[in-house]
Amino acid sequence: MPIYSVIQLSQELIRKKSITPDDKGCQKLISNLLVKAGFTIETHRFGDVDNLFAWHGDKAGKSLMFLGHTDVVPVGDESNWQLPPFSGHVDESYLHGRGSADMKAGVAAFTLSVIKYVRENPNHNGKISLMLTSDEEGVAENGVKKMMPHIAINHEIDYCVVGEPSSSEQLGDVVRIGRRGSLHVAITVHGKQGHVAYPQNASNPVFLAAGLIKDLACYKWDNGNEDFPPTSFQISSVKTSSNTSNIIPADLSIQANFRYSTESTEESLNKQLTQLLKQHNLDYSLNWNLSGLPFYSQNHQFRSVVESSIREYCHINPIFNTAGGTSDGRFVAPFGVDVIELGVINKTIHQIDEKVLIDDVKKLEKVYFRLITSLL
Ligand SMILES: [Zn+2]
Repeated sequence: MPIYSVIQLSQELIRKKSITPDDKGCQKLISNLLVKAGFTIETHRFGDVDNLFAWHGDKAGKSLMFLGHTDVVPVGDESNWQLPPFSGHVDESYLHGRGSADMKAGVAAFTLSVIKYVRENPNHNGKISLMLTSDEEGVAENGVKKMMPHIAINHEIDYCVVGEPSSSEQLGDVVRIGRRGSLHVAITVHGKQGHVAYPQNASNPVFLAAGLIKDLACYKWDNGNEDFPPTSFQISSVKTSSNTSNIIPADLSIQANFRYSTESTEESLNKQLTQLLKQHNLDYSLNWNLSGLPFYSQNHQFRSVVESSIREYCHINPIFNTAGGTSDGRFVAPFGVDVIELGVINKTIHQIDEKVLIDDVKKLEKVYFRLITSLL
């Protein structure tokens, strides 16, 4: 088995066209390396999604898990790429390709750090593990969401480091210590269908809802707190049930999403929205869909270890925040695990010509290694 450098392993992973949810052998490549280093492997395929959990050590002490995904988003029109998206091309500064930043370099970095750690410390304290899924970029139903209940029965996890690209301008400048909750709601405002020429016999739900929409635009759901910005509410679509020009529609449907802080809950948001609808005397129905609870790591020791590891190799002080979209961390945190996200710069993720700085990948491997030695 070849001994990979972190760049070589990243390249090998990029060359596998693992468009979500197809893992295309990425996890096999990684598990072969881990088995050789003495890790125990569990693989679980749920639906069309491959998942892997690997662990080493069982002694008393803390347990640290790295979390990542091997799937990538589609490349779009390949002819727009300057370099073939799955070539894993390397120039003097960058490693190029789909998934280079999100997040195959991160996966390669933590895989090689755990292997190095176990080789150097075969009788280490605690437990080191990693979890990979090929369903993070897709619907995320058959990945970490299903793995965690399964794994948590036999494996207690104290800390989880998600290798997602958290950095913004410089490696390590931003670390996520939680995420806002994400809650979808479909609001249907009911009116009465009729001919546009006879409005006295109908009731237009668009006009009925106009005041509500205006109020929603500036409504304050909460004030946020030190670690979370105030809850935001955005409407993504407004549609009527009519598609002809001479019918007053029966219904107006509004699709909206809350990104909410820990100052609000599903219940409190429901209550506030219902109150607003009632204030506007609307006949309505609501359909809720919770896509992720907010989570937040309050473990200051964990945070200070992360901070000092970043300072040592990146020579900067990270900002800890809860911004950005959801990640698989949302499925781990409810098990009482302290979750942080730390990875490469996210500027080109999901874009054409995705790339990552080679130096950053090498540094990230060292930061992860330092995290392991400090936490176990
Ligand atoms: Zn990702």
